[in-house]
Amino acid sequence: MAAKDYYAILGVSRDADDATLKKAYRNLARAYHPDRNPGDKKAEERFKEVSEAYGVLADPEKRAQYDRFGTVGGTGDVGFGTIFEDLFEGFFGGGERGRGRGRVRRGDDLRYDLEITLEEAAAGMETKLQVPRLEACETCQGSGVQPGGHVEICASCRGQGQVRFTQGFLTVARPCPNCRGEGRIVRHPCTGCRGQGRVSRERLLKVTIPAGVENGNQLRLSGEGEGGPQGGPAGDLYVVLHVKAHEIFVRDGAHLVCELPLTFPQVALGDEIEVPVLDGTAKLKVPAGTQPGQRLVLRGKGMPHLRGRGRGDAVYEVVVEVPTDLTARQRELLEEFRRSHEGGSNPRVSKFLERMKQLFGS
Ligand SMILES: [Zn+2]
Ligand SMILES: [Zn+2]
Repeated sequence: MAAKDYYAILGVSRDADDATLKKAYRNLARAYHPDRNPGDKKAEERFKEVSEAYGVLADPEKRAQYDRFGTVGGTGDVGFGTIFEDLFEGFFGGGERGRGRGRVRRGDDLRYDLEITLEEAAAGMETKLQVPRLEACETCQGSGVQPGGHVEICASCRGQGQVRFTQGFLTVARPCPNCRGEGRIVRHPCTGCRGQGRVSRERLLKVTIPAGVENGNQLRLSGEGEGGPQGGPAGDLYVVLHVKAHEIFVRDGAHLVCELPLTFPQVALGDEIEVPVLDGTAKLKVPAGTQPGQRLVLRGKGMPHLRGRGRGDAVYEVVVEVPTDLTARQRELLEEFRRSHEGGSNPRVSKFLERMKQLFGS
């Protein structure tokens, strides 16, 4: 195997300094990066070659050895991954929006608002969402280039996507007018997407909503957002859950609370009644002497815990209903009930009246 001319590969002179090497490598690596040339074997080869050349020349020891012997012992692994990450730090994976184009950018995140019932939140569910989004074009894998087509690195900006010019003391960077900031010129735009790299698609996505979710909870569907421009990675889809108000129950964490209207005889004498639960009805014992506002509880009849086991409780807040439309017979019975009370009134009221008499001596 003939020794490679690393200087020629990077297109620099033999006395190029570090800055020149770095710049040359950056431009070439960007142009030949596999993400920007999907499926292009030649570009991939070039990318490896360029990375290897830079890996050697950027290391003073290896460069000296290479200059003397025209080869470097134990090549192969030049740790290009690290070098690449080094140079392009913060370059991939989004967060670089608007800082010049011609860079690999992540697609936008999408939000989908989904309304569900309390019953669905309790049971969990599987559903399908119809999501319109931009996706990487299948024909060109998002590159915008017709398969087998030709891409040139823009000569005006040498692939940078920006041109700089000086105005007084200021150096201003502007998107390159020749390539419209792309850093490249596509000679054969993809016909599937008219060179855009992305196409509008409507997808039916299956989501599984775990039992116990609450209003405002979000589910993240990784990579189901919009495709990145020029074949960049897709963003995420966030499903925001809205749990509809229930006609009976109000949620309190994992507990379900509702009002329970009872008659005076029911709370006074006790009763066993049917009460609503989320999935039907259940039997509830009302002890004799139950007070207004007292909470009667059915353990484990509430919402399931989202993380963890078991369920909360169903809680019934007692409201004592006072009848306003007594029949003659009912009135008679109540009168009799009143007469049956010693003194005719509540002992607390009698005590209070007695104290008042002591104080004011009437
Ligand atoms: Zn395309
Ligand atoms: Zn340009």
